[in-house]
Amino acid sequence: MVQIQNYINGAYTNAVSNTWIDNYNPATGKVYSQIADSDDKDVEAAYQSAYAAYGNWKTTPHEERFILLNRIAELIDKNNDALAEAESIDQGKPKWLAKNEIKRAAQNFRFFATAAMQFSNESHHNEGHTINYTLRQSIGVVGCISPWNLPLYLFSWKIAPALAAGNCVVAKPSEITPMTAYLLGQICTEAGLPNGVLNIVHGLGPKIGNALVSHPKIKAISFTGGTATGKHIASVAAPMFKKLSLELGGKNPNIVFGDCDLKKAVKTSVESSFLNQGEICLCGSRILVEKSIYEDFKTAFIEEVKKLKIGNPLNDENRVGAIVSQMHFEKVLSYIELAKQEGGRLLLGGESFKGTHKNEQGWFIQPTIFENLNFECRTNQEEIFGPVVTLTPFENVDEALQMANSTPYGLACSIWTNDLTKAHRVAEKIESGIVWINCWLVRDLRTPFGGVKQSGVGREGGWEAMRFFTEAKNVCIKL
Ligand code: NAD
Repeated sequence: MVQIQNYINGAYTNAVSNTWIDNYNPATGKVYSQIADSDDKDVEAAYQSAYAAYGNWKTTPHEERFILLNRIAELIDKNNDALAEAESIDQGKPKWLAKNEIKRAAQNFRFFATAAMQFSNESHHNEGHTINYTLRQSIGVVGCISPWNLPLYLFSWKIAPALAAGNCVVAKPSEITPMTAYLLGQICTEAGLPNGVLNIVHGLGPKIGNALVSHPKIKAISFTGGTATGKHIASVAAPMFKKLSLELGGKNPNIVFGDCDLKKAVKTSVESSFLNQGEICLCGSRILVEKSIYEDFKTAFIEEVKKLKIGNPLNDENRVGAIVSQMHFEKVLSYIELAKQEGGRLLLGGESFKGTHKNEQGWFIQPTIFENLNFECRTNQEEIFGPVVTLTPFENVDEALQMANSTPYGLACSIWTNDLTKAHRVAEKIESGIVWINCWLVRDLRTPFGGVKQSGVGREGGWEAMRFFTEAKNVCIKL
C-alpha cells in the first residue's frame, strides 16, 4: 500500500510521529493508501527547510524561476495520464475530467512562470519635487492550504504564484485527496527546483493546518476551503497580523431569462449543476428561471440530466463519479432529506446509486433536481456541494436579483439572456465576485478570482496573486 509521505527539503520523509491515516478510494469505499499523520513538529521542519532555502530563492533571477516553473508544467503535462488516474482514484471524479484539470494545473505553473518575468513595480513622478517608486518584495515563507474538490489544480493555483513571486512555501493539501500533491514532490525534484523551496506536509486540518496558520514565522496564508474553516483561520491569523487570502464556499445562482438561447442555457446548466458531482465551488446550485420559459426549461433540463451516466470514474462513458468521502456522501443525502421535509418536489434522482463489481460499496449519488422550494429555505441558502440543484421560477429582473442575492454567499453567478443591456444591469447588481454571461467556468487566468460576503476575502489570479504574495514598499526620493 502506498504511503504518502511529507516532502521536506527535497526529500520524502515520514511524519515525526511515524503514524498514518487511512486514505480511501471513494469509488470503492475501500482504503487504498496511507497518509503521514503530521503534527506541529513536521510543520516546524518544513518551515526550517523553507527558511533555509529562502535566501537564495528570493534572489534567484526571474528568468531562472521562469525556467523552473515551466519545467514543472512540462513534467505535469508529460505525466498527465498517470496524474489524472491518481486524481480520479483519490477523489472520485471521472478520469476524463481529471485529465482536463491536470492540464489546468500545468497551465497554472506555466502562467505564473511568465508572471515571474513580467511582474513590475510602479513609480510616481511629482515633477520637480519627488520620485516615488514601489518595491514589491517577496514575503518570506508562506503557507498554502487547499481543499479536496480540485486537488492538484487548486494546490498549484496557490503554489505557482507564491514561488513566482520569490517566496518559499509550506503547502498542505486536503487529507481527503493528498495523492497528486504527493506526486508533485517527485516532479519538483525532477524539474530541479532547489531543495526547500517547496515543502508539502500531509495530515489533518485541525492538527497541521492549524499549526501552519498559527506558526509565528509563516507570514501569509492562502486558503481555499469551507467558510467555517475560513472563519477559524481568520480568528487565528488576524491577531498575528498575517496576510490572508480566503477563498470560501458558495451557493451560486444561475439566472435564466425568457429571452435566452434555451438550448445553450440547458446544456451549460447541466454542466454547472453536475460536473465533478456538483463538487465545484463555482457550480450553480440554484437555477432561477423566468416564468415564461420555466416549464420548457424544466422539461429539457430533466431530459438532459437523465442522460448522465453514473459509475466507475475510470470508465470514460461515465459523466458522474463518486462523492469524495463517506462523510460528505452522508451530508449530501441529509440535504436531500431536508429538501423533502421543506416541501421540495423531487423531479429526478434523490437517492444514492449502487455501482457494480468493484464499485458496489462506492459513494455515488444520483443527480438530483428539486422544485417548489422557497428561495429562503435552508436547501436554497446552505452550501450542499454535491449533485443537488433546485429550480425556482421568477417573475422579473427585480425578483431574480432578490433571490440571487439572498444567501450569505457571493462567489459566482451565471446569467442567460440575449439582451445585453439586461445582462449588464444584472451583472452590476449581483452580489458576487465572478459573473458569467451566457457561459460558465470560462476562465482567463489573468482575471481576478474570488468572492464577496461569506465566500471570501481577497482575490487570486493574475497580478492579484502576485500582489498578495509580495509586500509593497514605497521609496520616496526628494529631487
Ligand atoms: P475544508 O475547509 O474542510 O478544508 C480545506 C483545507 O483546510 C483542507 O486542507 C483541510 O485539511 C484544512 N483545514 C481544516 N481545518 C483546518 C484548520 N483548523 N486550520 C487550518 N486548516 C484546516 O474544506 P473542504 O471540505 O476540503 O472543501 C470544500 C469547501 O471548499 C467548500 O465549501 C467549497 O465551496 C470550498 N471551495 C472554495 C473554492 C473557492 O475558490 N472559493 C474553491 C474550491 C472549494
